Amino acid sequence: MKILFVASEAYPLVKTGGLGDVVYSLPHALHARGADVRLVLPGYRALLRQLDQVRLLGWLEVRGAEGIVSARILETRHPDYAFPLWLVDCPALFDREGNPYVDESGRDWPDNAERFAVFARVAALLAQDALDLGWQPAVVHTHDWQSGLVAAFLAEQPARPKTVFTIHNLAYGGNFTHSDFVRLQLPGHWWSSEGVEFHGGFSMLKAGIVYADAVTTVSPTYAQEICTPEFGCGLDGLLRSRQYKLHGILNGIDTTIWNPSTDTHLPARYSVGRIQPGKRRNKEALLEHFLPLVDDAAMRAPLLGLVGRLVEQKGVDWVLAAIPVLLAETDVRLVLLGSGQAVYEKKLTRLAKQHPERLFVKIGYDEPLAHLIEAGADLFLMPSRFEPCGLNQMYSLRYGTPPVVFRTGGLADTVVDANDTTLEDATATGFVFETSGAPAFLAAIHRALDLYRQLKQWRRLQQTGMRQSFDWSESAGHYLALYSI
Ligand code: ADP
Repeated sequence: MKILFVASEAYPLVKTGGLGDVVYSLPHALHARGADVRLVLPGYRALLRQLDQVRLLGWLEVRGAEGIVSARILETRHPDYAFPLWLVDCPALFDREGNPYVDESGRDWPDNAERFAVFARVAALLAQDALDLGWQPAVVHTHDWQSGLVAAFLAEQPARPKTVFTIHNLAYGGNFTHSDFVRLQLPGHWWSSEGVEFHGGFSMLKAGIVYADAVTTVSPTYAQEICTPEFGCGLDGLLRSRQYKLHGILNGIDTTIWNPSTDTHLPARYSVGRIQPGKRRNKEALLEHFLPLVDDAAMRAPLLGLVGRLVEQKGVDWVLAAIPVLLAETDVRLVLLGSGQAVYEKKLTRLAKQHPERLFVKIGYDEPLAHLIEAGADLFLMPSRFEPCGLNQMYSLRYGTPPVVFRTGGLADTVVDANDTTLEDATATGFVFETSGAPAFLAAIHRALDLYRQLKQWRRLQQTGMRQSFDWSESAGHYLALYSI
């Protein structure tokens, strides 16, 4: 089966979050099951710079905001990819420094509507083999708002591949104005509440939901949640009306990249059969990253880790409220890695300056440090208010670092709370709190710290988590079944 993936980021070339991980590992899992895959990405400057050899497949001309835009379509074989990558090289739109979606100050690129409308138009043409390459996909699998218009463009075509649209996060709607809609000369009949119109503007995410043949999201619980007003971001009514084509398929993780027994980012490797002394050595290395001298007290104290985008979704305000209490009432140390909203970055940095021996904060994006935190921390914090799937909690389970999570979305689907029953029958893997807010989060951390002191119970909790199978094989099977309907 030929499958064309269309996405705006892909590990390790360009990644801002879980989307990039999934766009790398899912097509590989499909490839391993015999699918013939191509992945189309925008030709960002940072991405093109990483490529050794590219082949020109041809040129495509599509409508932009000010007239016709030409895009070079490049093909490359990247050592990390088992199948060819196609790049939409359009310098006016993608040849710039920085993040794929926002400028240095964190504001959306002002021409995002044009950038991703052009990208989608080109991808839709490639899906119809407009370059006569002799490669006609049966399925086009698009991801999040950046590729939401692809299904809409293809819906207009008489003979076309099947379209699948995956929502990785409903909170990012790709919302633009009516004047963008007009300037981009999008088809006028799309402008209705049954089309892409959304509160006086238009939403590229909504286009994907309306026009794709099948819509998926990345966990079964999130698939239900987004059909409710609380989690639906104004699209819950639409999603309820499309429930017949909405599927929740849990993300997997790449178990070759995220594997404590082979992870080259770690100074010591370990496995479920022998967690120590490897994990301890990683804890020491993690502390050494921030402290000139790591003493016994620091090694004995529980080390709490967090990796993620510093945004409201991730419950950073709850973390900020919990830190002073934890520092006052317990002996924990905390290490936090992330970037995001300036206000959270500032507050965390300030707090860390006040507690240089116990609170370690690194603002930025640091893949090796993310691995070391998963391995070296004792407990992983992930109190997201909502979480479509979440990957970090699965990484932490696999690294023997039980997570503390709020019961929502993919967190609810992947972490089993440690209580009397689940500890007794050895199904417990972490700590799940039920009420949103810092007090319940703190109470869950306290429960975790109590259990941490009970070595035998703790070891069992770690081992159960490490034995969970989160690889892609099962989910890839669900996608293949969906493509074949
Ligand atoms: P989201 O997609 O909402 O950001 P996920 O938990 O699904 O959250 O995935 C986040 C991914 O991005 C994980 O692979 C995580 O390790 C990585 N990540 C997030 N922030 C950072 C950071 N500051 N440094 C390194 N990796 C990060």
